Amino acid sequence: MIHPDTELRLANPQIGHGVFATRFIPKGTITWVRDRLDQTFTPADVARLPTAYHDIVLKYSFIDGAGRFVLCWDHARFVNHSCTPTCRSAGYDFEIAVRDIAPGEELTDDYGSLNLEYDFDCSCGLPQCRRQIRPGDLLSFADDWDRIVAEPFRLISNVPQPLWRFLEEKDTVDAALSGVSPIASVKANYVNVADLLCGFTLTR
Ligand SMILES: [Zn+2]
Repeated sequence: MIHPDTELRLANPQIGHGVFATRFIPKGTITWVRDRLDQTFTPADVARLPTAYHDIVLKYSFIDGAGRFVLCWDHARFVNHSCTPTCRSAGYDFEIAVRDIAPGEELTDDYGSLNLEYDFDCSCGLPQCRRQIRPGDLLSFADDWDRIVAEPFRLISNVPQPLWRFLEEKDTVDAALSGVSPIASVKANYVNVADLLCGFTLTR
């Protein structure tokens, strides 16, 4: 579920739609949480769907750490990629704002953390652009991304959290916030997609 202070807007004709803040969203805010209305499919489930559905699932879903496709039910599925995104995840089923997000600003994510099935060329145009976003980026950059998430993560209990009630990992997050356990690395969300999809025919 995407943060309530967001809306779907046309980002531009090349990119299409994106998710934009309608109010100020402070750093440390949970901007998306996986919830019970999201649809989850194993690769076998997707392969069994009529082929007309395959490209829809591939385009709009991400693959979680258990190797399941997750299709968000709301406009979370329109969040675009950026090489310096406003939102990132640690090793959990939610994302947080890694910096303040101003009203009218787009919420973005790093698709390199979402277990891509394929490489794609990025033209985000930012100085930090990686040009090509690859399925292995999650492992290659996990240490950097964990460092970026650590400080905003510690702000979780200091800012309003309208999505907190939907979080199913409250105890784990509380343990990390109190220092009982470390913040889970984003590596927890990694799967080898080539191995995962081996033997399945998904039609694009
Ligand atoms: Zn880029």
